[in-house]
Amino acid sequence: MSSPKTIKLLNPGPVTLTNQVRQALLREDICHRESEFSLLQSSIRSELVRVYKEAEKDYTAVLITGSGTAAVESMVSSLVPKTSKALVMVNGAYGERMVNMLTVQGKEVYIARSDWTQDINLELAETLLKENPEITHVLAVHHETTTGRLNDIPSLAKLCRKYHKNLLLDAVSSFAGEEIHFNEWNLEACAATANKCLHGVPGISFVIVRKDSLEKKESAATSIYLDLFRHFQEQNKNSTAFTPAIQVCYALSEALKELESLGGWQIRHSYYKTLAKKIFQGLRDLGVKTLLEIDSPSSVVLTAYQVPKNHAYKDLHDFIKSQGYVIYSGLGKFSSDIFRISTMGDFNHNDAKHLLSVFKEFLEQ
Ligand SMILES: *Cc1c(COP(=O)(O)O)cnc(C)c1O
Repeated sequence: MSSPKTIKLLNPGPVTLTNQVRQALLREDICHRESEFSLLQSSIRSELVRVYKEAEKDYTAVLITGSGTAAVESMVSSLVPKTSKALVMVNGAYGERMVNMLTVQGKEVYIARSDWTQDINLELAETLLKENPEITHVLAVHHETTTGRLNDIPSLAKLCRKYHKNLLLDAVSSFAGEEIHFNEWNLEACAATANKCLHGVPGISFVIVRKDSLEKKESAATSIYLDLFRHFQEQNKNSTAFTPAIQVCYALSEALKELESLGGWQIRHSYYKTLAKKIFQGLRDLGVKTLLEIDSPSSVVLTAYQVPKNHAYKDLHDFIKSQGYVIYSGLGKFSSDIFRISTMGDFNHNDAKHLLSVFKEFLEQ
């Protein structure tokens, strides 16, 4: 079998797969109602909850077949009660998406919104929490992939403790790449996916939830498919609510093994960090500016850059792609003037060096 053409993906998921993870997709066919699948499912669930060792005691992982948005929507739908209100921290497209989810679910929402290039607005959050005691949940994006900003969750978590609110995190582009303090932040849940920092294949996502919440609360789900409680109950009986993406689970299991043999998320974090810095410095030397006013990358997972003056995004993208790398455009109002680079997946220092030489060639032509 010939191996696929190697083009390296620098978009924030799906990532360039390692050969071992890609090969895992070809394992034997199994039925999801047979013991082979129950074993696979339970080993993935217990490995996921051990990625951050401190989560193992009080949290459980619930798998959802679907992209990262499915996990976020399942968390938001099932855990925010219809009768209470939620506060959403918004400084990018993924914060806006959670507001949309709550609105579609017919739930009342307060928004602490800041400009997409700014940090989350903690002052406004505190005012809203003080004035509206009926708020039960605070929702935030850990790494806002729209801009590459790692949001100040430690400070937000302190506010949530002070006002006794439950904190829900979209950790889709940070889980296994950035620090997450389940206990200190007193997280009720966070949602993530197989195909970003975990280096798996798209199609499986998951929510890491406090066991207590799933055992003692009632589901607030406004959807059949995305009812987290239903998935939890079935998975705890070694069953599944619906047909899971079996081959994607094989790949996730392999990706989790790779993470473990690497030494865990901390090692992956440092690896991402050195790559992100190398590209950040290399592009700065070429005169490319970042979107955010920063002296070093905010998140280690992704950095957003301004498209250099006198160049069009499309020309930049097409040239870089012709040399073997896919860069990623901006979202919404940033769609034509920024580009983003993420170094998740099978990407190393030689690739980074080559990528910088490709940028140099483009900018000097
Ligand atoms: C990628 C991402 C998502 C989910 O996107 P999908 O396309 O559904 O996988 C959600 N939130 C953040 C912060 C993301 O980066």
